[in-house]
Amino acid sequence: MARYDYDLFVIGAGSGGVRAARIAGQYGARVAVAEERYFGGTCVNVGCVPKKFLVFGASYAHDFEDAAGYGWSVGERSFDWQTLIANKDREIQRLNGIYRRLLEGAGVTIFEGRARLGEEPHSVVVNGQTVTAERILIATGGWPELPSEPGAKEYGITSNEVFHLDRFPRRVIIAGGGYIATEFASIFNGLGAEVTQLYRGHQILRGFDRDVREFVSEELVKTGINIRYNTIISRIEKAGDCLMASLSDERQLEVDAVIYAIGRVPMSRGLGLEEAGVEMDKGGAIKVNDQYQTSVPHIYALGDVTNRVNLTPVALAEGHVLADRLFGGREERDVNYDNIPTAVFSIPPVATCGLTEEEARARFGNVDVYRSNFKPMRHTLSGRDQRTMMKLVVERESQRVVGVHMVGADTPEMIQGIAVAMNAGATKQVFDRTIGLHPTAAEEFVTMRTKAPEPAGDED
Ligand SMILES: Cc1cc2nc3c(=O)[nH]c(=O)nc-3n(C[C@H](O)[C@H](O)[C@H](O)COP(=O)(O)OP(=O)(O)OC[C@H]3O[C@@H](n4cnc5c(N)ncnc54)[C@H](O)[C@@H]3O)c2cc1C
Repeated sequence: MARYDYDLFVIGAGSGGVRAARIAGQYGARVAVAEERYFGGTCVNVGCVPKKFLVFGASYAHDFEDAAGYGWSVGERSFDWQTLIANKDREIQRLNGIYRRLLEGAGVTIFEGRARLGEEPHSVVVNGQTVTAERILIATGGWPELPSEPGAKEYGITSNEVFHLDRFPRRVIIAGGGYIATEFASIFNGLGAEVTQLYRGHQILRGFDRDVREFVSEELVKTGINIRYNTIISRIEKAGDCLMASLSDERQLEVDAVIYAIGRVPMSRGLGLEEAGVEMDKGGAIKVNDQYQTSVPHIYALGDVTNRVNLTPVALAEGHVLADRLFGGREERDVNYDNIPTAVFSIPPVATCGLTEEEARARFGNVDVYRSNFKPMRHTLSGRDQRTMMKLVVERESQRVVGVHMVGADTPEMIQGIAVAMNAGATKQVFDRTIGLHPTAAEEFVTMRTKAPEPAGDED
């Protein structure tokens, strides 16, 4: 008779939880998972996947315009939000089913409901039932924040609601300057809304390379997005069918929707973690060691609830490695956090891998920078005023490429391959020896030969 009901109980069937549960189940472990909302978690339901569908939808507006230079006349255009949302929902429903079947196929017991730690050390309470498990994994993800300004909680919406709006908002405020805010600005702008993006700082996309931030913000403004810096919303009120937003610069804006994308917090409240002695930081992120173990050794945590690298492929990798280590006898497995490629699916998009120039200078001192800024071939005929920027950051001594940054069409599709090269330790000479693929924008990466001048004030 087993001491516990399960070998592993996973709270949260998102990217990380499903992967850990499925792989553990495939190893023969007795696994249960609790999910209170939707299978597949944030990414599938209110994150990466629906976001990318909306980006595809929004991109058509630009494509129709560009087509004229190639001889097409596209005629009358109209866009129907309900069609896009219904088609997106159908696909997501299909994915929900796939996630559920993956778990069932691996012999995982599913509890549909909110779970929390029980009073006894190895217990979990879900749907009024208490079960026990030798190990418990917290994979509850994150949740979008709303600010405390008057009207924000009442009338503001977040990425949780935006994918389910009944009506298309014709005038939108997007509050925030991170990747999610910037993506939503491009989505609503492309779909035909009048978009004002408000950011409390002086430049969007904090944490990205400085050249990227400056370049992409100019490109986004060219597409019609009104970006206002050093501005926040001080109050939102209802004004008939619309909303009236009062801004910190004393101006007022009448809009149909105010979308906040100002940050996400770990979903760690109300889980009984404090009572169990699980340590968290001030923001509620669960602290873990390099084996995803919390301060309570039989309780593990991974993915966004640990607030480290909040990306789906990272949560997936962490879940997989944890299951391999605990149940597959593969203690040598770990996650490679170096050179994680990321993208901002704005229009045009940003793609990046490795260190920003600023980080590389701080870490290595001497770096060589190669920068290219050009009109992409497609827009020579389309006539669109859009440019592409590419940048390589190279550690001078070893000549290793330590940062790659780009802004322009298709760049997220390019960066994955470059991340492989970077993880293999590719030097600038390896890039230079590689024959380009012509005619593409990507070939620019293997033809950049001129170093950018050192920034003023640099010592070397
Ligand atoms: C708008 C948006 C766009 C994004 N775009 C990208 C992108 O392009 N690329 C990318 O890599 N990442 C993207 N992300 C981030 C990505 O979605 C997350 O990093 C990823 O989903 C984290 O996985 P997770 O397993 O940690 O948590 P989640 O996927 O959030 O899963 C957590 C699950 O736990 C459930 N849960 C929580 N508490 C309980 C409880 N007490 N009991 C039972 N169930 C519970 C939740 O309902 C949820 O299903 C995006 C996120 C957002 C919001």
